[in-house]
Amino acid sequence: MTRAFNFSPGPAMLPESVLRQAQATMLEFGSTGASILEISHRGADFIAVAQKAEADLRTLLAIPDDYAVIFTAGGATTVQALLPLNFAAPGQAADYVVSGHWGKTALKQAAPCVDARIAASSEAGGFRDVPGRAQWRLSPDAAYVHVTANETIHGVEWQNIPEAGNAPLIADFSSSIASEPLDISKFGIVYAGAQKNLGPVGITVVIVRRDLLERAGQPRAPIFDYRAQAQAESMLNTPPSWNWYVLGLTVQWMLEQGGVAEFARRNAGKAALLYAAIDDSGGFYRNDVAAAARSRMNVPFFLHDAALDKVFLDEAKQAGLLALKGHRVLGGMRASLYNAMPEAGVQALVTFMQEFKQRHG
Ligand code: PMP
Repeated sequence: MTRAFNFSPGPAMLPESVLRQAQATMLEFGSTGASILEISHRGADFIAVAQKAEADLRTLLAIPDDYAVIFTAGGATTVQALLPLNFAAPGQAADYVVSGHWGKTALKQAAPCVDARIAASSEAGGFRDVPGRAQWRLSPDAAYVHVTANETIHGVEWQNIPEAGNAPLIADFSSSIASEPLDISKFGIVYAGAQKNLGPVGITVVIVRRDLLERAGQPRAPIFDYRAQAQAESMLNTPPSWNWYVLGLTVQWMLEQGGVAEFARRNAGKAALLYAAIDDSGGFYRNDVAAAARSRMNVPFFLHDAALDKVFLDEAKQAGLLALKGHRVLGGMRASLYNAMPEAGVQALVTFMQEFKQRHG
């Protein structure tokens, strides 16, 4: 089997060594005589898996002790819907800094349960930049301030997320968690769906400062209560145990590779390579994002002639370069360069782009 370079935005490419371990334990896990898919989440074998995954994630991300780590199903979108229920009073203001599609989604998910306000938005400019701190209009009574660290579709990333002031900062790190060192203590909550940098789809990580779990929030079912989830070690009900396991393998792989500092180095190199190929193409390829807000993880780009899009995608696929089609919101192309994408993949893409330009320029 030849594995292609997969530039999918998520579910995204996973390290081959992780997939091979997962393959082996899919059939028989340790000495249990059963697949890991078949054992109880409350048995000692799985509890050890779950605890190791959390401990390794704490090491990888340097998560301080006064933060709980919750593993949930439902994706980042469900977290977005549960934030107001857990951390805001009914009708209380919550500020949203919107730098792309996912910031808008977070606002939409919260709107039924909170006075969701747009504190700043870069939508008028087509989400080609982040709205700088000077543009933020924060509400004095806001329960929290929500930001999106990296906009997966628009390819817009904060280089440095500004301080919010009094209200805790809640950040959606779905598409950039573990891509570089992060000071968790700057945030009240950091959350991320796993399917980009942390492993497989089906599990989401919510890192929450413990004092915030004491907030009354709003009437909600116990299963939607993060305090109860934290107390039950994310096992109020049956967790997505397979996904949790593969997340653990992926986190362990990242630690073995040298941790987030090493990935920061690799990711900066990969992104620089691709942006240079775009910028040096004499207008054949184009990326419209402000230089300082260009994402290291997701690089949207356009061909000078959209009529070539389909040919580009067909030829790329033949060359073993997958999933380069841009999101329907933007069109064009997008290459996602998460931690599991090796530099050789980006090099292959850049070479392909240069040759494609020669053939079709
Ligand atoms: N936030 C960001 C930044 C995302 O990229 C995505 C998914 N691509 C989501 C939220 C939604 O995640 P999910 O599909 O896991 O609900």
